[in-house]
Amino acid sequence: MNTHFSCVGCGNCCTDHHVPLTLAEARQWAADGGQVIILVEAFLADGPGQPEQQRDHLLRRSWGVPSGHIEARVAITFAAYNVGPCRNLDENLLCRIYQRRPLVCRIYPMEINPHIPLRPETKGCPPEAWQDTQPLLIVGGQLQDPELARLIEASRQADRDDIQAKEVICARLGIHTAALKGDGFTAYLPQMPAFAETIDQVQQLTHWPAPNEWSFHVSSPAIAEQLRAAGARVVSEAASTYAFIALQAS
Ligand code: SF4
Ligand code: SF4
Repeated sequence: MNTHFSCVGCGNCCTDHHVPLTLAEARQWAADGGQVIILVEAFLADGPGQPEQQRDHLLRRSWGVPSGHIEARVAITFAAYNVGPCRNLDENLLCRIYQRRPLVCRIYPMEINPHIPLRPETKGCPPEAWQDTQPLLIVGGQLQDPELARLIEASRQADRDDIQAKEVICARLGIHTAALKGDGFTAYLPQMPAFAETIDQVQQLTHWPAPNEWSFHVSSPAIAEQLRAAGARVVSEAASTYAFIALQAS
């Protein structure tokens, strides 16, 4: 089935959407006075938290870390913390930094994860953006705009290129508790001066330190027991320095 699309400038994707940022974009976001949220999920390399069909994508954008007696893999997202309208959205629903807006803003509504098909009903774009009178976006599963395809690939590649630095940044910020992929996210709101300074320090490293030890925060005793049985470290205390965002009904 073909998909037609053109942005109609409604501003929905710029409101109440945490926008994933590359490491360089996150540093710029902080320099501009914005707040970054850090979202962390993790999985066991051959076990819980890893959907088989996403294995290759997940492995490439995650980093191996110790957890208890085993290796876990953490996937870390730095995102613009947009509660309400983005700080760059003006009163006419135009982006004040349009020429240098983040990659993900350029790609929307496309998915970065190659295993997630585009489903218009899950996106913030109104029906008129998808009408048959709009330009063709996808024909027979193929994106029609090579520049859009290039930007999507650049976003995926940045995820892979940045992950080790993000893990070190988290370690230096005292962030070492992850949610289990599919069960939720742990969410941190670091102080921006410390965040920016840590990025600068990590970008000057000439060799990478050993990864931090990570723990899991999960939604239920049954999942905690499953992870502990696999050898992973699971926290039992309540979250104090982060929020746990559950994806499953507990
Ligand atoms: S940076 Fe611009 S395009 Fe991106 S969410 Fe903010 S206002 Fe929208
Ligand atoms: S939600 Fe869709 S139509 Fe609205 S501004 Fe964003 S990309 Fe454009």
